[in-house]
Amino acid sequence: MTKPLQVMKFGGTSVGDATCIARAAQIVASTAKGMRVVVVVSAMSGVTNRLIDSAKRAGEGDTQSGSALVEALRQQHRTALAALVSDETDRTAVERQLEAIFAEGKRLYDGTAMLRELTPRTLDVISSLGERLCAPIFAGALRQLGAKSRSIEATELIVTDSYHGGAEPRADETRKKSSELIGPLLGAGETPVVTGFIGATHDGKLTTLGRGGSDYSATKLTTLGRGGSDYSATILAAALDADEIIIWTDVEGVLTADPRLVPEARTIPEISYREAAELAYFGAKVLHPKTLRPVLPAGIPVWIRNSFSPEKLGTKITQKGKSIGGGVKALTAIRDVALISLGGPGIVGVPDVIGRTFTTTAELRADVLLISQSSSQNDICFLVSKPHAHATVDALRKEFAQDLAHEVVDHITVDPNVAIVAVVGENMRGTPGVAGRTFNALGQEKVNLIAIAQGSSETNISFVVDDKSMQPALRVLHREFGLGHSPAN
Ligand code: ADP
Ligand code: ASP
Ligand code: MG
Repeated sequence: MTKPLQVMKFGGTSVGDATCIARAAQIVASTAKGMRVVVVVSAMSGVTNRLIDSAKRAGEGDTQSGSALVEALRQQHRTALAALVSDETDRTAVERQLEAIFAEGKRLYDGTAMLRELTPRTLDVISSLGERLCAPIFAGALRQLGAKSRSIEATELIVTDSYHGGAEPRADETRKKSSELIGPLLGAGETPVVTGFIGATHDGKLTTLGRGGSDYSATKLTTLGRGGSDYSATILAAALDADEIIIWTDVEGVLTADPRLVPEARTIPEISYREAAELAYFGAKVLHPKTLRPVLPAGIPVWIRNSFSPEKLGTKITQKGKSIGGGVKALTAIRDVALISLGGPGIVGVPDVIGRTFTTTAELRADVLLISQSSSQNDICFLVSKPHAHATVDALRKEFAQDLAHEVVDHITVDPNVAIVAVVGENMRGTPGVAGRTFNALGQEKVNLIAIAQGSSETNISFVVDDKSMQPALRVLHREFGLGHSPAN
């Protein structure tokens, strides 16, 4: 009988330095004694941000920043490798792999600085370097512990469409490639270590989500978006028919709120796919928003666990979650958003204002996070992520130029100092009073509400506040719904 298959993903802090990698490798090696394991790794903590930051500088003509970063990364990764792999032959082989990646990074930065142009394609390739440096070191650490292991670049496994910075996987092709490459390795008792975050298109033709098209074909690399290694893990798990996924991170599971904002937040032992997806969508950084999509059809359970306290069970995410008899399970917030309002007394009589507004946002591929319309119908407001705000307002001003001239529309404004707070719980459906308690508690705390929305699924109530009120709102609601005390299950 074949052993069960587990996909384990380790996030940036879980592979942050040699000590963390050793701890993570220990977890893998002991699991691999009784199961087949595929490992997915992120870049070492902070590396992706630094890579992107230097890429932007290079795009502005800075010839130093990229080289300096490559040198710093060389030090950092070689130090980790030296601490983890004592066998000289093995270490030299991994060093050679790393050197090829540093050389590639240097060329990319130099080229970008020389041209003073950072294309989305180049940005994706630069962004991928962190994962590609980390995977060979992790595999070396596993070999050091006596496991059979090798690193694999996910460009060999995950086939995506060609949207840079937010590519979507193609399930059938990914299944074929992954099982052909990974299947035999697992059969031979190996534990492959796969780079998270990246994939490759089928034919090398690339375009970028939200930044216009490009059809470079020199490289086939695409990325799955920020925090995308979570998504890589579930894509691979679905492709390989895994039995379970464990996302190892730096907190003990999905908590009732972001612990940095609400210190009394607690771990939720079990939560449904839908609730977890809602939390991720509304900003809970612990999961990439698309993470759960690939595992829904097969119902593969996903665990979120703390690699720094592996003895704790963490959170289990399943189809059904666990009923708490009605009520709120968790809170979340998104800060990086802007509120756009469009209105004027004249829009009551114009039937297509809403249609034109959202056709405009769709053309820009701006993600609309929340929509609200006042009952007198003379104001529509909606939220987009901050980077999209200016382009959205400009496009709306163009679209409604005539209406503005004739004062049918009297304002199109943007407010960047806002946040969305969401109250999430599957069993809020049919539980009267959650909205009442929410808004009462906020009123008592004197939190001013700018807009409110409730999804028709009734899995969340979300509202907009000015960004200074976000933390007080989270704290008062956490208290109001007793999330820090009663078992949050
Ligand atoms: P990784 O590097 O492992 O991918 P991330 O930093 O992406 O980890 O995500 C983990 C972080 O998510 C936690 O350290 C925590 O601060 C934050 N977070 C936000 N909301 C939540 C929540 N509801 N539950 C748990 N963690 C959360
Ligand atoms: N390294 C990538 C990021 O920082 C992907 C990930 O960590 O999941 O977004
Ligand atoms: Mg993450």
